[in-house]
Amino acid sequence: MDGYGDRRNGPRQPPEPLIRPVPKMRSRALVVGGGIVGLSCAFFLRRAGYDVTVLDRDPDGDRASLGNAGAIAQPEVMPIAAPGIVWKVPRYLLDPLGPLSIRMSYMWRLWPYLSRFLRAANKRQYAASAASMGSLLATAFDDHGTIHQESGLGYLLNKDGHLWVYRSPAVRDASPDWQIRERQGLACTFLDRDSLVAAEPALGPMATCAVRTDDWATYVDPKAYVVGLMAHLRERGVAFKACHVASLDGDAVTGTGGQRYPFDHLVIAAGAWSHRLSVQLGDWCPLETERGYNTTLPNPGVSLNRMVTFAEDHFVATPMSTGLRIGGAVEFAGLEAPPNFARSKALLQLAAQYLPDLNVGGGNEWMGHRPSTPDSLPVIGRASRHSNILYAFGHGHLGLTGSATTGRLIAALLQGEEAGLDLTPFRIGRFSP
Ligand SMILES: Cc1cc2nc3c(=O)[nH]c(=O)nc-3n(C[C@H](O)[C@H](O)[C@H](O)COP(=O)(O)OP(=O)(O)OC[C@H]3O[C@@H](n4cnc5c(N)ncnc54)[C@H](O)[C@@H]3O)c2cc1C
Repeated sequence: MDGYGDRRNGPRQPPEPLIRPVPKMRSRALVVGGGIVGLSCAFFLRRAGYDVTVLDRDPDGDRASLGNAGAIAQPEVMPIAAPGIVWKVPRYLLDPLGPLSIRMSYMWRLWPYLSRFLRAANKRQYAASAASMGSLLATAFDDHGTIHQESGLGYLLNKDGHLWVYRSPAVRDASPDWQIRERQGLACTFLDRDSLVAAEPALGPMATCAVRTDDWATYVDPKAYVVGLMAHLRERGVAFKACHVASLDGDAVTGTGGQRYPFDHLVIAAGAWSHRLSVQLGDWCPLETERGYNTTLPNPGVSLNRMVTFAEDHFVATPMSTGLRIGGAVEFAGLEAPPNFARSKALLQLAAQYLPDLNVGGGNEWMGHRPSTPDSLPVIGRASRHSNILYAFGHGHLGLTGSATTGRLIAALLQGEEAGLDLTPFRIGRFSP
């Protein structure tokens, strides 16, 4: 991980990027969506010589990719649909500000997703999805590294590992997930209270033990990464157009204003809105948005040396260049409902229990739309009826982590190259009734 930042010595200055000659323009590739997944696809397509245009309804606007927790979380391969989760959900739902909420008015619209989620929550599917996600994320650091080498943005990433913190050692020790992770070669070390406090002195007595991994890194500001990558792509000849894509067919997309963009190849990377486009091509997908919340505290009064997940309370704290970001929560309320920032405030109150000296004042609240599938696997592959159209969406909690690998795979697929892993589990057709 040479070339990355180091939290203890402060952020590095941007190094000179490696100048790599841009290959001669080939055919026109359109990418719908300028989030981190679309930008990563644009990066690898441009690198392969395509004439790339990114269409976004608001290229400089907010999106999930800007305000997230910043992690490249290679060990987070476990799907959300865990065996036994069905028995935990009622307890979560009883707490209106708990880790999971479903707006009642939205319940009936959630059923296509929820029914498949419940079906996936069994041991066999859980292990299979974890293995597929593990194979996808196995090259996450290398693929981010390719982007960093050429864009010079590696200084924004700190590879300082991660802690899962627990109140109860019994809960930690009972989880089967550590074995699944270890089988995939992800090293995890168990810490007692003394070693935990040595690593993170700001944690109060509520944190009794932890698990540490080094296979984890965090962007000090995911927004700076997105903005920097857009600037790099512009320099490399990628065009950005403000266009809200309303309709599409096999060789052109049309914006809400009537603008028409013909293409040779199309990538749909429109985050939580992607299914509205795929369905027009005959590919239905039960994509949902898991709305997530956080608050960035510019003057937190405490410092953490690395990102921490508070495992039993389902929230995370990430030290960023803009402050300490505290967030999490899953809310099913669709794409249109206004945010309920009481959720961000509730997470701050929880955080203050673990970090007794935390100053919760003066924070910036944020909500983002995670694009989520019932089995937690993204959709990566060709449209079923159009070989020149590819899908790259549905990365859920791990869109930043999986973005670079997705971009590399999309470029490989377009060029007819070997993907290097079995993409069958990621095909859109897996949701066909
Ligand atoms: C609270 C929170 C914390 C998170 N933490 C992490 C983390 O630590 N690590 C991690 O890996 N992931 C994390 N995630 C998940 C990650 O942020 C997302 O998976 C990822 O940003 C999704 O990227 P995307 O490019 O698919 O979508 P987006 O960033 O949502 O981008 C989609 C783009 O498509 C555009 N668009 C949509 N429809 C159209 C249309 N019809 N025409 C034109 N443009 C359109 C939108 O304007 C948007 O710009 C977190 C998410 C949340 C909410």
